[in-house]
Amino acid sequence: LTSSDPIVNHQICVCVRARPLNRKELSKKEVNVITVPNKENVIVHEPKTKVDLTKFLENQNFRFDYAFDENASNEMVYRYTAKPLVDCIFEGGMATCFAYGQTGSGKTHTMGGEFTGGRGQQECAKGIYCLAARDVFKLIHTKFKKLDLVVGASFFEIYSGKVFDLLNKKQKLRVLEDHKSQVQVVGLKEESITSADDVLRLVAHGNNVRTSGVTSANQHSSRSHAVFQIILRKKNTSKLHGKFSLIDLAGNERGQDTKSSDRQTRMEGAEINKSLLALKECIRALGRKAGAYLPFRASKLTQVLRDSFIGDNSRTCMISMISPGMSCCEHTLNTLRYADRVKEL
Ligand code: ADP
Ligand code: MG
Repeated sequence: LTSSDPIVNHQICVCVRARPLNRKELSKKEVNVITVPNKENVIVHEPKTKVDLTKFLENQNFRFDYAFDENASNEMVYRYTAKPLVDCIFEGGMATCFAYGQTGSGKTHTMGGEFTGGRGQQECAKGIYCLAARDVFKLIHTKFKKLDLVVGASFFEIYSGKVFDLLNKKQKLRVLEDHKSQVQVVGLKEESITSADDVLRLVAHGNNVRTSGVTSANQHSSRSHAVFQIILRKKNTSKLHGKFSLIDLAGNERGQDTKSSDRQTRMEGAEINKSLLALKECIRALGRKAGAYLPFRASKLTQVLRDSFIGDNSRTCMISMISPGMSCCEHTLNTLRYADRVKEL
């Protein structure tokens, strides 16, 4: 894929991104079982054993709107996934971008909640949160200047079916549905922002809040969905104009924790599993349009994103992240099968 390739303009875009083997995996002589032969296909070379115990590799081919290999930059991934949705929110639509995959596959790296740099000087690697905000501010001052819009941001997480405000001291929030089926996260804080740097600052702050007081930051973030929203409002009336929700999903392997011996872990796993299944159905229904039943209420995640799945001007992209190592093969195949189902109408 090069930056001159045409950009698809589907209502639902499903992509895959493979990260490189990391230093630790290389030192363990981990084998890379992923190849991306062209801009749409990904092949998993799955290790198998015959009845006579000889080993062989079976090639499993999957096709998506785009396939990004280990050399793709965040900028490149952004260009073909979330960027085409930025115009949509200016046109009064609702957009969502999901990062889906196993823990460690690159979801946070891609979305941009990753911290580099040392003590006290935490800096957020530029990911989709920041790149989308950059383009929003570019367009607000040029192409869509006449709309007279202002920008707000909110950041919350859904952990074990409960919503916590990451811009307001992890306050637990209620989700209410009114008689018109409008869903509201009551009291969710919305900060007004004026630059992509504001986004970096908010995300850095929110991530600190997210993991404060938890024993293992990684464990925690692998079990919760993080939702960052860029909200466009009319300057004079504050009326909602469009919204872009960028979601760093819980690790999909956690959905299998239902066999854990720990009750809490089992319950969290069941909740994650339920939300990812409901998400798949909601995205599929978005593509089918008329009369499709949408299981919004099946999970907190789909409930709070309800308004993004309805309406003709709703668009979504899902980036499925995969780890390239042979030891991750099973999870990688699960991820690709899920993504395949999302895309299939
Ligand atoms: P997840 O959020 O899915 O659990 P992370 O984004 O934390 O995974 O990624 C796991 C590790 O792999 C991190 O150290 C991250 O820096 C690294 N990584 C992920 N994607 C890439 C990539 N495309 N290129 C280089 N390193 C990556
Ligand atoms: Mg993560």
